[in-house]
Amino acid sequence: MNVLLTGGAGYIGSHTAVELLNRGCDIVIADDYSNSSPVAVERIRQITGRDFPAYHVDVTDCEAVRRIFRENKIDCVIHFAGKKAVGESVEIPLSYYRTNLDAALTVLECMKEAGVSRFIFSSSATVYGSLNPIPYREDMPRGECSSPYGTTKAMIEKILEDACHADSTLSAVLLRYFNPIGAHPSGLIGEDPQGIPNNLLPYIAQVAVGRRERLMVFGDDYPTPDGTCVRDYIHVRDLAQAHLLALEYLDRGGESGPFNLGSGDGFSVKEIVETARKVTGKPIPATMKPRRPGDPPTLIASNHKAREVLGWVPQRGLEEIIADAWAWHQSHPNGYDG
Ligand code: UDP
Repeated sequence: MNVLLTGGAGYIGSHTAVELLNRGCDIVIADDYSNSSPVAVERIRQITGRDFPAYHVDVTDCEAVRRIFRENKIDCVIHFAGKKAVGESVEIPLSYYRTNLDAALTVLECMKEAGVSRFIFSSSATVYGSLNPIPYREDMPRGECSSPYGTTKAMIEKILEDACHADSTLSAVLLRYFNPIGAHPSGLIGEDPQGIPNNLLPYIAQVAVGRRERLMVFGDDYPTPDGTCVRDYIHVRDLAQAHLLALEYLDRGGESGPFNLGSGDGFSVKEIVETARKVTGKPIPATMKPRRPGDPPTLIASNHKAREVLGWVPQRGLEEIIADAWAWHQSHPNGYDG
């Protein structure tokens, strides 16, 4: 099985690449390194001891994507490529719609030309909007997303549903990620956000390594047990393994559709900070701040469908996840730059 990973040098793409190579799949990576590093590609080779083609391309470039399909016999595409900063998407929505929709459409059109019919899409829990009851299940409708980033995910899901409806040979699995955190236990690959991190774990890690002074906790007056937001954090390796299971599922003729990838458990911001203090042995100063606009109080997955249909069993608990993240951040306080 030869799998094209668009955005394969990114955080989730690189961890998925490792799992696929370790399980004997061949891969091809296409990445423009706009929010990732070619060093990640070298690290994937180092961890797995395996080589593979890596193309430095923007997947909105149709000719460049065509060339990849011409030069490699691809069986399936896992589409990670896209812009993903929620706050930035509110400021420059047109750029998000242009890039994320164009990338997905270009890859799908080139796949069709090349006769490739299996597609796995990096979607997000944000497509549930804010009106569905918790925990989110795949049979609930998509809702109004709180950001243009989220809307691009929901729009691409709809495009895929329509494309699969129109072409019975196309099958697409939509993987709805909850809050992926952690890193490969080697400490060689991990999350490397550009600039000030938006997400909780990278921010905490940068405080722990001394790159930032203190964490700002956005809101402690939510209707949750300790007043801070509750999220469903999942180890990026567990998430990566779900992609492998999704490939196997498509290979045995599985139906197109969405799958939630979350642990099914929720932890509050305060609980995450406490666990990070314990694991790192660092004080991690934190200051309470007002709520961040658009943050729902609680986000938790029902993962029954992924467990039953894909056979997915998330295996790693919170302390292990944070310890793995810490190994990466401690050895790479400035990410792939050093
Ligand atoms: N959060 C925080 N301080 C930060 C970053 C995040 O208090 O510097 C909170 C945020 O308000 C949310 C939770 O941590 O309640 C998880 O946020 P993240 O951005 O990691 O994930 P998402 O909002 O996508 O669930």
